[in-house]
Amino acid sequence: MASGIVIAGAGPAGITVAELLRRRDPAQAITLISAEPFAPYSPPAMADYFMTGRSQALYWKGTDVCERLGLEYLPDTRIRALNASDRELTLEDGTRLVYGQLVIATGSGLYAPVSGYDLDGVYNFKSLSAAARLVDSVRAGGVERAVIVGAGFIGVELALLLGNLGVNVVLLEREDRLMHRMLDAETAEIVLERVRSRGVEVQLETPARGFIGANRAEGVELESGQVVRGDAYIAATGVKPNVDWLQGSSVACNWGVVVDDCLRAAAGDVWAAGDVAETRDRLTGERYVHAIFPNAVAQARIVASGLLGYPTRYDGAEAMNSLKHLGVDVMAVGASAGDEELRLRHGDTLRKLFLRDGRIVGFRLAADVSAAGVYRSLMLRGVDVRGWRHRLLDVRPGAAWLGVQ
Ligand SMILES: Cc1cc2nc3c(=O)[nH]c(=O)nc-3n(C[C@H](O)[C@H](O)[C@H](O)COP(=O)(O)OP(=O)(O)OC[C@H]3O[C@@H](n4cnc5c(N)ncnc54)[C@H](O)[C@@H]3O)c2cc1C
Repeated sequence: MASGIVIAGAGPAGITVAELLRRRDPAQAITLISAEPFAPYSPPAMADYFMTGRSQALYWKGTDVCERLGLEYLPDTRIRALNASDRELTLEDGTRLVYGQLVIATGSGLYAPVSGYDLDGVYNFKSLSAAARLVDSVRAGGVERAVIVGAGFIGVELALLLGNLGVNVVLLEREDRLMHRMLDAETAEIVLERVRSRGVEVQLETPARGFIGANRAEGVELESGQVVRGDAYIAATGVKPNVDWLQGSSVACNWGVVVDDCLRAAAGDVWAAGDVAETRDRLTGERYVHAIFPNAVAQARIVASGLLGYPTRYDGAEAMNSLKHLGVDVMAVGASAGDEELRLRHGDTLRKLFLRDGRIVGFRLAADVSAAGVYRSLMLRGVDVRGWRHRLLDVRPGAAWLGVQ
């Protein structure tokens, strides 16, 4: 029956909070709970782990991190409910756990707005357990052809991984481009060519109705009525904050957990960080879940400060993602349109800046992403770049614009 600080979720957000708290207070009782049976891991490193077998990046804090930090670690333990007024969690097996302060860091899970996603034989790549089930069945043989529904970042990354493992992949996407939320048409075209050149069969503008089968998945039914068949089926249809266990509690949730500017989720010392938290977009001010690793860690730092008695304002985050394993670097940051566009294209090298009222509101880079830091800094500071817009795309080392502060 723990009290002290309880951290629900051992992803990048949860373990970062634990580590920061421990650094400040060697004696504080900290309980870390994970629905997963593994040591805390980094999901962005999963594909690499399955490709190379190297686990260092996956277990980014070390497999012994919980012992080293003196945490009470409860792996393979799912939380069912929260009663914030009694400061009490109920675990799946009915055990009750009392906390002094609570961090909600349960991250995100599969969002599947298609029927049959829970049939046997439908896999996903959203957690290490789920990913291991898929890769184990591929390695056991019998998966010659896999059908992935959804070509967002995870769908594309998975298509490349399965291709590397020798599987013929069909990638189905309802929109007219890959990664439509993050990529403009031109950048998406570069990615599409690369993905196709790796042998992946991509079908765009092909909405799926759902997975079909009596007891086990036997195909993906398209809205056209056609059925696409394979030996394995994968839902890569999006991600959603893991907030089901908060239903009926006093923690307010929209898409994710609603937090204040210091990431407090509810009275009674309840905080939230990472993919589960709905924070403000730094550029638009809208409430949004920008579900990426650096945001989870940045939010964890804010929550740790709050727990230590120094509530700190979170600046918000912007949409950002990068694609690995493509053979070409691709980076997408901020908006994918503006009232003006600056563009430079040379082969696969693309630099594209979107401006609004003379200020950068987003950019897309392919092949050479070395200017990302400078563009992002200009964007976040709201610098009016009208006076030297013709030099912004000049990327020669030492070019004059690099010196602009
Ligand atoms: C395949 C893949 C590739 C990615 N690539 C990138 C990338 O290249 N760059 C990038 O920035 N981001 C990437 N991301 C996103 C990044 O992984 C997340 O933003 C990050 O993991 C969020 O951390 P988190 O701690 O908030 O949540 P999560 O990592 O989702 O961790 C949530 C934790 O909560 C636990 N949990 C959930 N529900 C319960 C419950 N009811 N009870 C108990 N425990 C629970 C889980 O077991 C887990 O320990 C990728 C994600 C995936 C899946």
